Amino acid sequence: MKFPNGQQIIEEFEKWSPKYLAMEDDPVGLHVGTLNKKIERVLVTLDVNEAVVDEAIEKGASLIIAHHPPIYRPLKNLQTDFPQGRLMEKLIKHDIAVYAAHTNLDVAQGGVNDLLADALGLQDTSVMVQTYEAELVKIAVFVPESHEDQVREALGKAGAGAIGDYEFCSYTLSGTGRFRPTQGADPFIGEAGKMEKTAESKIEVVIRKQEKDRAIKAMIAAHPYEEVAYDVFTLENKELPMGLGRVGTLETAMSLEDFAEFVKERLDVPAVRVVGDFTKPVRKVAVLGGDGNKYITAAKRAGADVYVTGDLYFHVAQDAEAIGLAVVDPGHHVEKVMIQGVVDYMAQHSGLNCTFLASETNTEPFRFK
Ligand SMILES: [Zn+2]
Repeated sequence: MKFPNGQQIIEEFEKWSPKYLAMEDDPVGLHVGTLNKKIERVLVTLDVNEAVVDEAIEKGASLIIAHHPPIYRPLKNLQTDFPQGRLMEKLIKHDIAVYAAHTNLDVAQGGVNDLLADALGLQDTSVMVQTYEAELVKIAVFVPESHEDQVREALGKAGAGAIGDYEFCSYTLSGTGRFRPTQGADPFIGEAGKMEKTAESKIEVVIRKQEKDRAIKAMIAAHPYEEVAYDVFTLENKELPMGLGRVGTLETAMSLEDFAEFVKERLDVPAVRVVGDFTKPVRKVAVLGGDGNKYITAAKRAGADVYVTGDLYFHVAQDAEAIGLAVVDPGHHVEKVMIQGVVDYMAQHSGLNCTFLASETNTEPFRFK
């Protein structure tokens, strides 16, 4: 059995959670080690601390995919007398690479925020704060009928034709291609100097501009012709907005007090902090994983009755109270939903012969009494 290269694993992962979805200055990507090696096991974790590295060593994982970047601010030194230096030393000594997918995984469709919205059973969800708008292009390629499936497959695998909850979307039209190979040509069909006529299909697919080069490369590799005829059009169409946080509705309204209990149960936390009147009914919910202090007004503007986010500051809580927005703060650690989310996504979509393991190390620093 051949194990994949680290680069292949990350290419598959980034089809879901590309780096360009990250907020500016968010240090996403490879943090430690190399991806240029065969990888049998990948450990998925929210944070990288010494216990997580020990777990990776014990389980034979040579790549860690983490949500929180282990090197968030530039390192000034690598002194191994201090925790971070020791952590880096251990990773390198054991040849363990660390790759971080932070705000790009928050924004990604099916990423952290969608996982949290799903855990809360929110329906008809939309993005709370738009942070990214894709430019779209259409690729149209002319291909002999015999190779239609092969080219469509290659385009789809490269991410072309991914529209909302659908993938491998394309449109095919049949027609006739005409060409005359010249003396220097090595034609797949026909012979030099003779006019040729052949049944060809035109396949059209939509793709984000940032991803078009990868798709064109894959399309050309799968195409039988020496000179591939294709067009790339810029589209005015817009993709659904992508961004941070989700807003959706609960199946039935409940009191803020009941909702607080519901959040504890659904997000698996022992306690939550609550701002607002316990008796007030809530139905429309905004959720943003991690620290959502900045987005109180965005949640209110989105029409939320209650905002679920972590790391709430005292004064921000007072501001929320003042604008009549209830808040439930389950802490930052609820982002642990990404662990199983990434494991499931990669197991289902990557098609790679390697094992994705959910870290069992609890990185929550708080204890509740
Ligand atoms: Zn976070």
